[in-house]
Amino acid sequence: MIRFDGVVKKFGDHVVLRELDFTVSPGEFVTLIGPSGSGKTTILRLLMTLERVNEGRIYVGGECLTHTPRGDNMVPANEKHLRQMRKRIGMVFQQFNLFPNMNVLQNVTEAPIRALGLSKGEAEARAVDLLDMVGLSDKARAHPSQLSGGQQQRVAIARALAMRPRVLLLDEVTSALDPELVAGVLRVLKEIATTTDITFLCVTHEMQFARDVSDRVMMFDQGQVIEDAVPEKLFTAPEQPRTREFLHAVL
Ligand code: ADP
Repeated sequence: MIRFDGVVKKFGDHVVLRELDFTVSPGEFVTLIGPSGSGKTTILRLLMTLERVNEGRIYVGGECLTHTPRGDNMVPANEKHLRQMRKRIGMVFQQFNLFPNMNVLQNVTEAPIRALGLSKGEAEARAVDLLDMVGLSDKARAHPSQLSGGQQQRVAIARALAMRPRVLLLDEVTSALDPELVAGVLRVLKEIATTTDITFLCVTHEMQFARDVSDRVMMFDQGQVIEDAVPEKLFTAPEQPRTREFLHAVL
């Protein structure tokens, strides 16, 4: 579902991703861990086409995100192609980024109406089901400012799911939350991960959550995946000294 093929990303002279290769299979839940500043968010931003690669290719669902075919060649993707590809990928951010002037229902229906062309009725029916799934059926008419951080984040999750993405990217989705609100958000994500066929790529510092829900965990350091294993293996018997050192510092 996701493939990075020799991806290089630089900011000026600073090489953040060095010929990065990895794949994520359909329906897998893969978590990226590693030190701050190592490039994890950049990977998600490249998938959201918020950044462009310097070299290499990224594929989503078998189609190239970074390039489009022209004749016998592949040329850098144009805006139209990027817009098409973006519809397949949802992202939930650390800061919930809800539209403050819209109520919860409007937040969840806005993109499906505007970008997918759903009627208001269809979008609302979808939103009602999703708000039920994230435990917020009674908050449809509330405004974001009337909700807790945990509730706002669950709205953001419903809003991302309303686009029926094939891939959902999670970037530190609990980092801005008060500790007592974290569990509710993680419970909702686990439920979605186990009951849908969405492919997840998750960046988190919640090691217990990573261990609990991931099919695979990738340890990322200095622009490369240095270890890639099932969670039981990575958290209990990591092979790389750098992984051991990192886990020792955060656990
Ligand atoms: P992580 O998510 O692992 O903490 P990031 O992907 O956010 O790491 O950042 C990786 C590196 O790239 C950091 O050194 C960061 O300062 C740098 N970086 C990220 N975005 C930009 C940008 N837009 N311009 C310049 N440098 C950036």
